[in-house]
Amino acid sequence: MSSQHCDVLIIGGGIVGLCIAHQLLERQITRSITIIDKEPELGRHSSGRNSGVLHAGLYYKPESLKAQVCVAGARRLRGWVEERGLPINPCGKVIVPPRAELDGQLELLAERGRANGATVEFLEEQQLHKLIPEALSASGRALWSPNTVVVNPSRWCNGCNRSCSSRGSGSLQQLQAGGFSRKSAASALPMTASSHTAISTTALGSRPTGWLISMELGSTTACCLSRVCIGNSSQAV
Ligand SMILES: Cc1cc2nc3c(=O)[nH]c(=O)nc-3n(C[C@H](O)[C@H](O)[C@H](O)COP(=O)(O)OP(=O)(O)OC[C@H]3O[C@@H](n4cnc5c(N)ncnc54)[C@H](O)[C@@H]3O)c2cc1C
Repeated sequence: MSSQHCDVLIIGGGIVGLCIAHQLLERQITRSITIIDKEPELGRHSSGRNSGVLHAGLYYKPESLKAQVCVAGARRLRGWVEERGLPINPCGKVIVPPRAELDGQLELLAERGRANGATVEFLEEQQLHKLIPEALSASGRALWSPNTVVVNPSRWCNGCNRSCSSRGSGSLQQLQAGGFSRKSAASALPMTASSHTAISTTALGSRPTGWLISMELGSTTACCLSRVCIGNSSQAV
């Protein structure tokens, strides 16, 4: 049986797991990171196969955390993708009401978008047809979000993984975690996997790191850190 050690073990190599790894590296918290995924490649699930839309922030209630994260995150992700020369389609988005009684929803989305700092414009029928001749709006008008862009999600996942690897983080390993249950907090616990690889994790910093997740991997039990300390706040992974 081989054995490994990492400061942070991330279960799941989708966009969330990759972003956590990227942030840990960018903030120089640790380079000792292992990502495990039950698939042999990244992005086999929703992160690599979604529509790739970087939403501009029209849908969420102003001042909500979702709105703040969506608007700031879309700007940062767009910049990140552009810097690395990954494919990006700055096509914008048009929202049309399929039924006339839904026209009022355009006002709501426009209001939310403006409050969230997104650019939105109303299009009259002629402008809509000039932009998209096939589009049909039941009320005749549409909402235009010029800053909505589309990225290639699987290229993004691979790009993020490359960026993490080039900063020295551990590689993706194919391993399935299962049978989660909560255990009391401790700073270091061994993690053993049924594929004859043992991974141990250590708490970062001296502060309490919250609860640990215990996993049954095959016939053995494994534990990993479920919280990391980022700056002055402790954030759940
Ligand atoms: C059809 C569709 C279209 C979408 N379009 C958009 C869009 O345009 N824009 C947008 O922002 N969002 C979109 N989304 C949402 C977006 O794809 C998800 O919010 C995002 O991918 C979630 O990422 P994740 O990392 O949490 O999950 P995932 O991508 O599902 O990653 C989880 C990973 O964990 C692994 N895993 C699971 N269980 C285990 C286990 N027991 N052990 C080890 N590994 C395990 C899986 O193999 C997987 O790789 C869309 C979603 C769908 C379904």
